[in-house]
Amino acid sequence: MQKTLVAFDADRIKGYVFGTDRLKEIRGASALLDKLNREMMRTEAKQVKDAEIIPIYTNGGQGLFVVSADNAHTVAEDFGQRIQKKFSEETRGGASITYALQDLPANLPDTINALKRIDLADYFKLIQVQMDFKKGSPADTVVLPSHPLMRPCDACGIRYAAEKGAEKNEPEDLYYCQSCREKQEEDHRIKAQFQKAADYVHNFKQYTEDNILHQELWKRISYYLQEASYDFFPFGSRFVPQRPSDFHAFRPLVEAKEYIGLIYADANNMGAKVTRLTRLGVYEQFAKGVDRAIHQAMSRAIKQHLPIVQIAADEAADDIQDESIVEGKITRFPFDIFLLGGDDIVMLTDAAKAMEVALTIGQEFRSIMTQICQETPEFRELGNDQYSLSIGVVMAPIKYPFRLMLGLVENILKDAKKEAAKARSDRNKQAGIDFDDTRISFRIVNGGMQINANDPYIKKPEDKADRRDEDTNQEFHATLRPYSPRDLDNLLKAIKEGQHLRLGRTKLHQLRESILHMNTTTSVSESIAVLRNWNEIQRKHILTYLRRYGTFYQHAPADPNNPLAGLPRLVFPWFLDTQSVYRTALLDFVELYDFVARDKREQVGYEQ
Ligand SMILES: [Zn+2]
Repeated sequence: MQKTLVAFDADRIKGYVFGTDRLKEIRGASALLDKLNREMMRTEAKQVKDAEIIPIYTNGGQGLFVVSADNAHTVAEDFGQRIQKKFSEETRGGASITYALQDLPANLPDTINALKRIDLADYFKLIQVQMDFKKGSPADTVVLPSHPLMRPCDACGIRYAAEKGAEKNEPEDLYYCQSCREKQEEDHRIKAQFQKAADYVHNFKQYTEDNILHQELWKRISYYLQEASYDFFPFGSRFVPQRPSDFHAFRPLVEAKEYIGLIYADANNMGAKVTRLTRLGVYEQFAKGVDRAIHQAMSRAIKQHLPIVQIAADEAADDIQDESIVEGKITRFPFDIFLLGGDDIVMLTDAAKAMEVALTIGQEFRSIMTQICQETPEFRELGNDQYSLSIGVVMAPIKYPFRLMLGLVENILKDAKKEAAKARSDRNKQAGIDFDDTRISFRIVNGGMQINANDPYIKKPEDKADRRDEDTNQEFHATLRPYSPRDLDNLLKAIKEGQHLRLGRTKLHQLRESILHMNTTTSVSESIAVLRNWNEIQRKHILTYLRRYGTFYQHAPADPNNPLAGLPRLVFPWFLDTQSVYRTALLDFVELYDFVARDKREQVGYEQ
């Protein structure tokens, strides 16, 4: 029996999913792609006659199969083309997928379990080369028709409109392209099935670890939320909470007024890890393990920070089903998930919860992966490797264009990844320390403190020709982003304590302004003036907080013979690191102050 590997990789997933600024199409597109990837590919594989097509993994927009047949190459080619056609048909030309083939030598064992143990590293490399080659030369670029009388789609603005809009609560004269219509229909389909999905919630035990990952998005989310003991019905109503129908429907759900947070998490260094996979069995367990950890980490973060919210029905600001109203109230999920699986999460939450959600996802992913590595024999041959995420968070007003928000979060994720890579390359220097290259960064768009996104947060000597002499050789970093989980945890706790002590927005804003002078003269004198305006407890809190970061940046451990070693040098608002760079953690503190949910003990009331 001949054998051929078939690999799939969906093209420009984000371009398709985030092709519009509206929640319903984003959600529909995401669900559709996810279903094509996890369900359709496997179903199609089963339907092929006279050949065995065995799935190794199907997630994150990718897939890997082994075709076993007398004419395996031809069968594999047909299979690849059929999946490609399905993708194009089901998304009305909106999405596409690339496949690559690699024949395996003839003398391999016929049973799949034996085959999974054979070293196929060379063939994995070859199929990857094929894939890169095919992805690099898109043969059939869609050529859009062009005609002055054709009207562009009112949702994506790119393709030509083909159908009149039939969406509820929308003006009559909207026209959509077929791709966007298909996305909208998928969103409707899910909404209609949602109560049924509730049945999955009720008896989710019909699914197992082995088959749940081949189910559609909301079944998986329900399953893993159940596993994390998430309470779907905290208010007694047996009606499954709904998701916000559009971005504006987040308004009654958010604590940080009118702000939502977009979180984008992506596993570190996966490319390098994949090149070390040598057998199909390891590939299978690796893909499954990372996919599962992504689901579980997100579910635990939701359980911890994003409980179901109850709001007045007339506050809902969107379409609600009458039967969901109980005593004038409805329940809502205060989040939405756009991409989940493979090694990615893209989700939307209340801005006030976003940083804590990101931190928990980062911490949980790492610890779940550590456990999976220990429990799964296949991981042993990958060595003692660490698994971690880089995470970007953008907090922006609800009305901020979503595509801009997505562009920002992609850049911030890149910053976090760069820092994670740097941490890995510096790794040997701190041998013996429990190594963690998880990195989390954030950005606030026009924040509550009138944050100007163009303020430079880093000033290096060469930037400062206009500075006075004493400053010219000094370097200033007004931010400590991206954060490690330990440092971010400290930051969030310090903010909560600061809120409790009521540090006051006005004073914090003055502190921020003085830091941004980026020098050791006015920065210092103005900051000290702010410090003097706080009472002793408040002052102590700020100084302790700053000193703690100073300590993190000192590499020398405390030395009993030299009490000053290991103590940070503070020049308020700065501390000096080992390279004599002036840094401060206070600007990040100030900027996030309004974007961290207050503890329950806080009294309600506006803080000046
Ligand atoms: Zn469109």
